[in-house]
Amino acid sequence: QAKAQGRGTCCYFSADMQNEAEDRLRLEQDLRQALTLKQFRLDYQPLVSAADQSLVGFEALIRWHHPTRGMVSPAEFIPLAEETGLIMQLGDWVIEEACRAAAVWPDFISVALNLSARQLILPALPNTVSEALARYKLKANRLELEVTESVFLGDSEGSLDVLKRLRALGVGIALDDFGTGYSSLGYLNKAVFHKLKIDGSFVREAANNRETVAIIQSIVSLAKSFRMTVTAEGVETADDFTRMRDLGVHQIQGYLFGRPMSFERATDLVHGVQTKMTA
Ligand code: C2E
Ligand code: MG
Ligand code: MG
Ligand code: MG
Repeated sequence: QAKAQGRGTCCYFSADMQNEAEDRLRLEQDLRQALTLKQFRLDYQPLVSAADQSLVGFEALIRWHHPTRGMVSPAEFIPLAEETGLIMQLGDWVIEEACRAAAVWPDFISVALNLSARQLILPALPNTVSEALARYKLKANRLELEVTESVFLGDSEGSLDVLKRLRALGVGIALDDFGTGYSSLGYLNKAVFHKLKIDGSFVREAANNRETVAIIQSIVSLAKSFRMTVTAEGVETADDFTRMRDLGVHQIQGYLFGRPMSFERATDLVHGVQTKMTA
């Protein structure tokens, strides 16, 4: 709100800014307790094969049910968790919870989870992951870890090393939100990523923009030359789906095939007679 007043009008700590700061502080305090109060859960969004629309896996997406604010978006609290360092504990909880879910589902279902760049600073991360896999007797290839290009902003050598150790465990590593970031293609050839996820904004823009289609085309061919799987995120319409499939994208994720859903609903979907999902 303070920002909305425009440049130059705000040269002291205004009441608005104070309110904002207090609100943030309160949210931060609530976030600290949220884990012990069990206010988090993971929802799961289906991933389908572009070829036959069969279910191939889920992406785990964190949800915070705040007692008075209601649902708080991860876009809001993940950055806060990163700044405060809480992401370490929260991230460990996500790994544990996602593995627990994967263990209930059959082998052909993979489970992807999101990692913050900050978690990759921890040299212990590969250990945490391999212990969780062992605890739930999961094959490593059931698990996929999604990171964004932001991991290459900070200590990129250290992060790359952690990613390589994770990859060596046999888990998949996906480059998330591809196309929105820093667009240095140099790191694609580091033998770390097994999958590239094209950002939903691109996918939807492709409906009205021929240049975007051309960009996706070259992303797909680049990824294929590195033997990576390509997923299109944010597929909302049947047109988006056919466009992505015809461009050679392997997997599809988006509201067209399902919104993020509870573990129970996801399990129903897995066990449904029809694993083939219709648009
Ligand atoms: P993301 O990893 O790129 O996840 C995809 C986001 O797009 C999700 O938003 C999902 O609900 C949304 N989405 C899926 N299909 C569609 C569609 O067809 N149309 C549109 N408009 N949106 C779609 P969500 O759940 O709000 O998560 C936002 C971001 O928060 C995630 O982006 C991820 O970066 C982060 N996040 C979520 N869960 C976690 C977590 O457990 N740990 C960390 N570190 N970050 C997380
Ligand atoms: Mg993701
Ligand atoms: Mg994404
Ligand atoms: Mg994202």
